[in-house]
Amino acid sequence: MPQDPFDWIDAEHERLRAAGLVRTLRPRAADSALLDLAGNDYLGLTHHPEVTEAAADAARRWGAGATGSRLVTGSTALHARLEAELAAFCGFEAALVFSSGYAANLAAVTALSGSVGSGTLLVCDEGNHASLIDGCRLARAERTVVPHADPEAVRKSLAAHRGRAIAVTDSVFSVDGDAAPLPALAAACRSGGAALLVDDAHGLGVLGAGGRGAVHAAGLAGDGDVVATVTLSKSLGSQGGAVLGPARVIDHLVSTARTFIFDTGLAPAAAGAALASLEVLRREPGRAGRVRAVATALHGRLTAAGLTAVRPDAAVVSVRAPSPAAAVRWAADCRAAGLAVGCFRPPSVPDGVSRLRLTARADLSDAQVMAAADAIVRTAPAA
Ligand code: PMP
Repeated sequence: MPQDPFDWIDAEHERLRAAGLVRTLRPRAADSALLDLAGNDYLGLTHHPEVTEAAADAARRWGAGATGSRLVTGSTALHARLEAELAAFCGFEAALVFSSGYAANLAAVTALSGSVGSGTLLVCDEGNHASLIDGCRLARAERTVVPHADPEAVRKSLAAHRGRAIAVTDSVFSVDGDAAPLPALAAACRSGGAALLVDDAHGLGVLGAGGRGAVHAAGLAGDGDVVATVTLSKSLGSQGGAVLGPARVIDHLVSTARTFIFDTGLAPAAAGAALASLEVLRREPGRAGRVRAVATALHGRLTAAGLTAVRPDAAVVSVRAPSPAAAVRWAADCRAAGLAVGCFRPPSVPDGVSRLRLTARADLSDAQVMAAADAIVRTAPAA
């Protein structure tokens, strides 16, 4: 009897179940009454009427899809405008948009590593987002993982290497919401002649003047040796990603980044929505400060009640849970109390500690923030 080629999945599933790590999809209703602290709609723009209308307009004008790679079917004026506006807003010379932030990160890491034999070293923070890690795995480069937020470790790795190098880091780490020491990392890179690549997914719209991002806030935007990536799916309430940097870097990506060349272009509706969100953010820069204030208030209330949470540097507030199973139960109890929260378990947490992950939103009232914090405290498992 030939063996069933997928029999192994049952054993693997049992292992995941025993460890409390099975993931299941829950349906989400369009008119859900839950207060959403699970999504990444930091500025409350995903349902903003100007943003949804711009998405619909773009779809009517350009179609529901981009129809192919922009290198094959041509590049629309909408994509060009979004790239120009993103670059200008964040303070970079040029930008290139991708169908997701994930694809933008894969592109930046792999294309900037060069081809086999380039001798490039990638120096990667151990807390980096999966898309940066996957980029490092795909790149034809040597790689080394350094301890979290440790510029000295980056400096040492660079000093021990002869040849090209890139230090790769999140600006705000997605699990704990803590910020990378960008000025010290840039100094370490410069001492070793390396480039700095920063994933500013959680910084755009939240940090820096009017939400221009963490790289802008660190005074590094537009520097010739700094490249940033962003997602359009968090603060901008849309979908897609971008790489921002010197024009020659962006031109190089157009010719070499596989997730640009072989992927269908960003959907017109997503480009239109992101452009409209940028316009709202320029007009209402106070949204960035408000989301930070909401995160601080949420954290203050939770820690005052005895929960363990990292002080947020941006919009993410991460609260420790005693075990994966306890985290899942806690998230379910929050849902029953009217609150949607994120539940992070291995392998989404580098240190193996499960957490509730809460996201602050600029459009929450003080009363909503306090009620949410109280519900989280009320449903907390015993330590
Ligand atoms: N980088 C970071 C730090 C993220 O948190 C995410 C989204 N979870 C991404 C990149 C990927 O972006 P996208 O969802 O647009 O693919």
